[in-house]
Parts: sequence; C-alpha cells; structure tokens
Amino acid sequence: MKGARVKQIRGRQTPACPVCASGQVAFKYRITRHRFDIWVCSACRSEFQHPLPKSADAYYDEGYYTGKSAFSYQDERRQEHYHNFVHAARVRSVVGYIRTGNTSALERPKLLDVGCAFGAFVRAAAENFESSGLDVSDFAISEGNKINAEKQLECRLWRGDLTHLPKSLAARRFFSGDSFAAITLIEVAEHLQNPRTAFASAYKLLKPGGVLVIQTANFEGWQAVKGGADYHYYLPGHLVYYTATGLKQMLTDLGFREFKEFFPVDFPLWAKWRKAWGDTKSFRDLTRFWRMSLYHLKSKLSWRGRPLTSSYVLYARK
Ligand SMILES: [Zn+2]
Repeated sequence: MKGARVKQIRGRQTPACPVCASGQVAFKYRITRHRFDIWVCSACRSEFQHPLPKSADAYYDEGYYTGKSAFSYQDERRQEHYHNFVHAARVRSVVGYIRTGNTSALERPKLLDVGCAFGAFVRAAAENFESSGLDVSDFAISEGNKINAEKQLECRLWRGDLTHLPKSLAARRFFSGDSFAAITLIEVAEHLQNPRTAFASAYKLLKPGGVLVIQTANFEGWQAVKGGADYHYYLPGHLVYYTATGLKQMLTDLGFREFKEFFPVDFPLWAKWRKAWGDTKSFRDLTRFWRMSLYHLKSKLSWRGRPLTSSYVLYARK
C-alpha cells in the first residue's frame, strides 16, 4: 500500500496529537500539490502536518501580508472600509458575550487580537475595548501602528505570539496578570505549531469570565470530510486542522468552560454581503452573493450529526 510505505519512510518518530495530546495517531494521506503529509488523531479526529515544515515562520514575510507570496493573506488595507462591516459585527457579538460586571465604568475591557496583521480588527474594536494586537511580522506591526497613529487611535500592535509575548517593560506591564476580557484568533489557530501551549498562555492572560474567540475550519464538517485531500484548506502554513470535538476537548483540558458554537460565523449574513460589496467590480462578481448566501444557509444544516460545511467559530469562557 502506497500510504503505508510513505508512513514507514516518514513516520520514524510517531508524533502525538497537537490538539488532544493522544498518541493514537496515524498517517492519513499526502497532499501532493503542496508536498506535505497529513496525520489524523483517532481520539479527537483532528489532523495535522507531520513532519512540520522546517521553518514555518519563514512563510510570514512581507509578501505574505501584501498578498504577493504563493500562499498569502489578502492585504486588506485597501478594503478596510468594507472589511469593517464584518469586524464591527463581530465586535458587537463579542461585546454581547463578555461580562463586564466587575469592571468599573472608567476601566475599558481589554481585547487582544492574536495574528492581527495590520490591525484592522483591533481598530474596529477600539471603540468598545482597550484594543491591542499581536503578530509575528515586524512589517505588519509597524505598518499597522502607522495607520493607528494616522487615525489617532490609542490601540497598539505588538510583535510576538502567544508563546513568545513581547518582552519590553511596557509590554510586560501590558501583558501581566489575567487582565484581558477577550482574546481573538481569527483564522490563526491553524497556523500554531503548539496549540496547547498557545492556548494555555491565552487562558493565563484572560481574566476570570473572559472569552476566547477562535475561527478555524471544523474538520468534522461534511465540507472537509467530502473534500478529502482536495479540500482547499490544506495549505503549507496550516499546520493543525481541528475538529470541533478536539478543540473543545483541548480547551476543557486547559480550564475553559461554557462553549458557544457558531455555524458558519458569529456575525450575520448581511455583514458578509457588505464586505463583499468592496470587491465587486463587475456584473459577474455578483454571482458571489448567491454562492455566499447559499453557503451561509447550508452551514445552518447538519446531517448525521455533522454540519454540512466546515466554517466554524467557537467562543470559550475562562
Ligand atoms: Zn487528538
């Protein structure tokens, strides 16, 4: 069997599941178009790249943030006005979920957006939160902080990630103790090399009652199951592919409780429409509105206990 042979060659050291830590993992298949192997955990059904790419951090150069690299993030600086419809809708959802009971009227709740890139979401949250962001890219951070300065916003972006918090005196003060009301990871969790360590750090930073917001693909959804190795979510920078079960299991292990799940996302369809309007240049682009709406409605349905699509947002409370 071809799969077994590949496993023999590459699986010299059997890894543990990066999500639930179980040792019950096996080679699943090779993503030939990107030349990496996917392993699956039989305990939580999460998947992951193994072996990990040698320098995963090398993906996040300037080209990644400006949409010029082969596998990159869409540079949203020009579309920020339209993207803000989605960001603002999400901020409202998070505000509705956090409890500010023990916060004085003068003290604004703190929010940290991990993997903030140029900080569009951080700026969208600035009205309701003492808003801040973390990113691994010096380039994105410095460009984002320039925009913050131009807009005279007090929000600040920092260089780092959850396992390597910034170390300056100001940063140590800012990130000390359990002071955050909300920590968001929007399409970021799948990039983490050590999710358990990263989310343990998020747990420490959150204050009791604070909320962790994660948007990532749910590999229990039929979209991922049916897509198999062809599923477009398999990308070189995506190291971990969670199931809703595995994600909740890991967060429960780390102390989180009270989960709220959203299929497909934690904001309404009209916010997506308004965001998409920014990219609409021709009559043909209008067909996207139909596809987007159909996807949104499909995500509300499930069959045999699985949602039809894989778009997923999870809120977890400390
Ligand atoms: Zn697992």
